[in-house]
Formats: sequence, C-alpha cells, structure tokens
Amino acid sequence: MIEPDQTQGGAGNGASMLAAIGNTPMVELRNLDTGPCRLFAKLELFNPGGSIKDRIALGMVEAAERDGRLKPGGTIVEATSGNTGIGLALVAALKGYRMILIIPDKMSREKIQQCRALGAEVIVTRTDVPPGHPLQYQTMAADIEARTPGALYIRQHYNPDNPAVHEVTTGPEIMDQMDGDLDAIVGGIGTAGTMTGLGRYFRRVAPGVTMILADPVGSLLAPYVQTGKLTEPGAWVVEGIGEDELPPVGDMSLIDEAIVVSDRDSLLTARDLLKAEGIMGGSSTGTIIAAAVQWCRRQTEPKRVVAIIPDGGDKYLSKMYDDHWMADQGFIERRTYGDLRDLIARRHDEHEDITVPPDATLAIALGKMRLFNISQLPVVLDERIIGLIDESDLLQRVLGGGAFADRVETAMTSKLETLPPRASLADVKATFDKGFVALIRDESQYWGLVTRTDLLNWLRRNRPAA
Ligand code: PMP
Repeated sequence: MIEPDQTQGGAGNGASMLAAIGNTPMVELRNLDTGPCRLFAKLELFNPGGSIKDRIALGMVEAAERDGRLKPGGTIVEATSGNTGIGLALVAALKGYRMILIIPDKMSREKIQQCRALGAEVIVTRTDVPPGHPLQYQTMAADIEARTPGALYIRQHYNPDNPAVHEVTTGPEIMDQMDGDLDAIVGGIGTAGTMTGLGRYFRRVAPGVTMILADPVGSLLAPYVQTGKLTEPGAWVVEGIGEDELPPVGDMSLIDEAIVVSDRDSLLTARDLLKAEGIMGGSSTGTIIAAAVQWCRRQTEPKRVVAIIPDGGDKYLSKMYDDHWMADQGFIERRTYGDLRDLIARRHDEHEDITVPPDATLAIALGKMRLFNISQLPVVLDERIIGLIDESDLLQRVLGGGAFADRVETAMTSKLETLPPRASLADVKATFDKGFVALIRDESQYWGLVTRTDLLNWLRRNRPAA
C-alpha cells in the first residue's frame, strides 16, 4: 500500500522523468467570470505522460513492487482506453518492465501510437462485446495475466492504490499551493481515484472543503449523487469521465454536490479556456471548468475554488480543437445553404483550400492528398477549376519518366465532372460510383468537394438513427 510519507515529484540531480510526475503547477484563472469567487486550476497536464494518470501509474506500480506482486523483469498488464495506458507505458519503460495494454477499438489513434512509441505491446480488441466475452478487453487482460509468468494486471478500477496516490500526493500539494485556504474542489470521475483520494484527504485535514463532481450528461454518477438512485446511462462525447456503473474503488459518499454538463458546453468551455487563460485542456477539462464556473457564479460569498485539469488538449487536436469536427458533430454552427454545399467539409467560402494551383509540383499535390486523406484534387486557377489530378495521374506521370518536381498542369486531366449545388444525393452517389469525388460548382464559383466520408457524416447528422 501507499504510505503517507510518499510524495511524488521533487526532481534533483540525477532524477529521472519519473521524478517529474506530480508537483504540478496551480494557476489562477483571472479572465473567466467566476462571480464572487476565485478559481484556481491544478494543471495535471504538466505530468510527463500528459495526464493525471501518471500519478497512479507510478503509485500502483511502486506499491506492487513493495508488496512483491511485481518483481524485476516482470510484466505489467492493463485494460484501458485512456491515459492510464500512457502513464503505465511510461513507468514500465523507465523501470524496465514489459508492458502489455489491451485497448478497445474505439480508442483514438494518437493514444495507441503514444503507448506503442513508449515500447508497450498494444493489443487492440473489440469494443462491442459484453463483459465476460473472451475478446472483451478486461477478460483478455485477466487471461494474459493468468498465462504470463511474472505478470500483474493492474486493474485501476479496483486498485486501492489508485485513490491512495491522490490522498498522499495530489491532496497535500493542493493544500500547500492554496496555503491551506480553500472552500471547494471540482473534479470529474472515471475510476473515481482522484475524487476519492482527495475527498479522504480533505475530510481529514479540512473537512469544510466541498467536493463537487462535474459529470457529463448521460453518466449515472451525478444523478446518483443527487438522488441516491441508479439511472439508465446514456452516451456522451467527453472522454475519461462519466460512468455507466458505480466505480468499484470509489467512495461516492465523499461527494457533496454534482453538476451535469452537456457535451456542447464541455467542449466549448475547453476551447474558451484556451483562448481566455492559455490552458489547452482535454475534453474532461471542459466539463470540470464549466461546472466550476457555474458553481462559483452561484455563490453569494467569496470562495476559493480549485478545479482539476486532468489532461492536455494535444490528444484532441483532431476533435474538439478542429472547427470542422465541431461543426460536423453539430457543436458549432456554420452557414447552411440547404443544398449540396452543406455536405462540403472544407468549404472554399470558409477559406479552406483542398485544391492545388496548376504550377504546384506533383510532390505538393501528393502531400495535400495525404494531408486531407483524399485521392483526387481539383486544380484551381483564379477561382475556376481547370483540371483534376488523382493518384493514377501521379503514378502515370512519375512511372512514365516524369518527376515529383514536375508541375501539376503536366499531369492533370481536364476532363471534369462537376455538380451544381442543387444536384441530388443520387447524382452524388452516381459520381462516386464512377470513382470520382463530387466537385461542387455553379456559374459563379467553385465551392469545394464532397467525398464519401463527407456524405456519410452528413447522413449521420441528418438521418434518424433508427
Ligand atoms: N479526465 C481524464 C481525461 C481521464 O483520463 C480520467 C481518468 N479516467 C479522468 C478525468 C478521471 O480520473 P479518475 O479515474 O481518477 O476518476
């Protein structure tokens, strides 16, 4: 078990990156409207793996080393879809353990890449199988632990060292950074390690501190805190927090209040936080800051409030920090036309340019196809499409004695199929069936292109699910 005198952080001469875990900065948010309160942010994104989970990764591994559950040369196994995998992969790399992570296939590519880059063996398995199924990720982890000599399945959701780490490190750090003067803590719950550990610590040293849960709409945790009843869970977009069952290692009785935040408010708040305060948090940061600001504004007395920033936004650049993704999910508005122009993900009138000029090189054209994940590009000069270049044009030119330094106009085709904005979905489908993307143009201008993915995304937004 974690002992009270164990703290994290405190780099010095010869310290490894593990010593950079914990002791994260606390800053005051000065530009958000917090009513009569002062709101402070505990920046867990400063941990070396980019999240609060580095703390429990190190804490759970070192507790297992002390108990003899993990021996030199051993193997660490965990089933996780999130930051704990990155934290454990980091700790395993630096301590010389073999690391096996079983990850459900809904997890973002960036997280899988980061785990693999840290040397972890990543097994991607199915998300859509029930508990107990041999391919279910927790079942697989237990199975690998049983079959691998010297293996330890960490089980963060059941591991008492998870909350214990926060009781011993995160709690005292907050107390110290706030000079012992704080009224409330706002955080989210995934495994409940953070809020349970903090709750236990503050119950002991400063029982007046109010513990506030920030929870996504659809999670059953906030309704449970508010009514004591278990409700039917829904679905939400925010990652890392919200649960569809009560967290086994958590103590929900430590939570005094719960605030429910919609996905939209969470994501927009995280984006505002970056602009207002320069803090690029992840999606759960948005939920937590939205709840914290709401609570602060509701107060009639001045209070000192700490919000936890669990991870950084770099893992979400292609999601919540991408305007196209936000518009596509319906979280931000964009101008609509009521015709095929609404299907264009990157529209010319929004200064998005998925085209090449005729004097660009073939290398530039190939790079743009890769960047936007498409196989054809319109060639545009003075707002008019004058040609189209696709992968087979590039191949033909380069295999036929040309070079990647050649100009696009030497390899493009001028035979064009375009559709007016008023054309039908059947016309778009017919264009796809011929192997083309749909180029949308009218008399006055080129508007952009519609790919199969754009059409699928539009259908998902506009057609009823059932
Ligand atoms: N935010 C993010 C991004 C997370 O990955 C997690 C961990 N699942 C949390 C918040 C919640 O932390 P905990 O598991 O300690 O409740």
